[in-house]
Amino acid sequence: MNQLHLRRGRERPLQRRHPWVLSGSIARVDGKPASGETVDLIAADGSWMARAAFSPTSRIRARVWTWNPEEPVDRDLLEGRLNAAAARRLETGLSRTTNAWREVFAESDGLPGLIVDRYASIRVVQFLSAGVERWRDEILDLLQQGEVRAIVERSEGDVRGLEGLSPRRGQIWGEVPAAEVSINEGDRRYLVDLVAGHKTGFYLDQRENRGMVEGLAAGRRVLDAFCYSGGFTISALAGGAESVVAIDSSAPALALAARNLELNGFRPQQCEWIEGDVFGVLRKFRDEDRAFDLIILDPPKFAPTSAQAERAARGYKDINLLAFKLLRGGGQLVTFSCSGGVDPLLFQKIVADAALDAGVDARIERWLAQPADHPVALTFPEGRYLKGLVCRVGS
Ligand code: SAH
Repeated sequence: MNQLHLRRGRERPLQRRHPWVLSGSIARVDGKPASGETVDLIAADGSWMARAAFSPTSRIRARVWTWNPEEPVDRDLLEGRLNAAAARRLETGLSRTTNAWREVFAESDGLPGLIVDRYASIRVVQFLSAGVERWRDEILDLLQQGEVRAIVERSEGDVRGLEGLSPRRGQIWGEVPAAEVSINEGDRRYLVDLVAGHKTGFYLDQRENRGMVEGLAAGRRVLDAFCYSGGFTISALAGGAESVVAIDSSAPALALAARNLELNGFRPQQCEWIEGDVFGVLRKFRDEDRAFDLIILDPPKFAPTSAQAERAARGYKDINLLAFKLLRGGGQLVTFSCSGGVDPLLFQKIVADAALDAGVDARIERWLAQPADHPVALTFPEGRYLKGLVCRVGS
């Protein structure tokens, strides 16, 4: 029998149903569990606590599958969790306005390390922990059920490396109709590159914030920094922006953004496109005394875990400081962090420091977050990764 015995006094997070066991909390391992294999978690007093997936290389040494001693970890458990997660998305009513959403969000849906995004009739899946990797065949088999035509795998990124797993990408079942798939969100349409695009292809988590930006853009001179495939750029144009400057370091992302504009009835010539490093471009704009009324900062993840939070904080502060300097009086900054290692309060402090150093007086008008298809289990606050602020500077 494979068992992880906890050190005395380290049971508290598990008692509160937090699904992770950190390596430092383990007194000993009985048996020889392989990567991803199921282990029982045993308290220091010998009582049974939970059943989890073992991850021999990660600091997160085990991730809980079930708190129920009667529930085996098997195909039935996976099927039940997958179906429940998909049903919750339908209950949100999202499918009335879009055909793309996150169907499974890992720990928050009781499937630690598993991401499933739905793009029309295609599922894009990420196996990001040793536990779900071990059940890969069963999960892929279950994901072929329902109205899906194809599955694409995007098991990549630093988390997979920490779990001791190598990256895997590509189409694994069915037929993907084209290199890019077209999805809709309300009246907007977007081309998504499922195989070569970022994450699983599109920033589904910014859906509601795209709508919010649309409402702020009328008559504004807008800067969309880190524009990727043009989500916020299109929102700004749709909202009646006077002009839009869009920056990204990736040429393929900018090319896709231009096509996305056309798909929504705008001309790419309506924007100024800049292929470059946002840090450098913003400095150059500052030196040229350029000014904007609305700036969107949506950088990539600077800190995947809290260990990198300090370095990330410098990056956030730097771009937010520059953005504050580029805003005209009365202008608004829409600034995001998707770093799990930077919590919302820390992010707010960083933005506050940036405003102070920029010498501007600003106030928060809104707090932004991820939408309902990226829920956060109350027992797992780490699931809250996307945070944003709308700040208006004084005139
Ligand atoms: N706002 C986008 C998502 C941004 S993702 C949306 O809503 O769809 C982050 C983007 O930043 C990626 O497209 C990546 O190519 C780009 N990027 C990363 N580092 C950069 C840098 N230093 N300068 C400019 N772009 C960068």
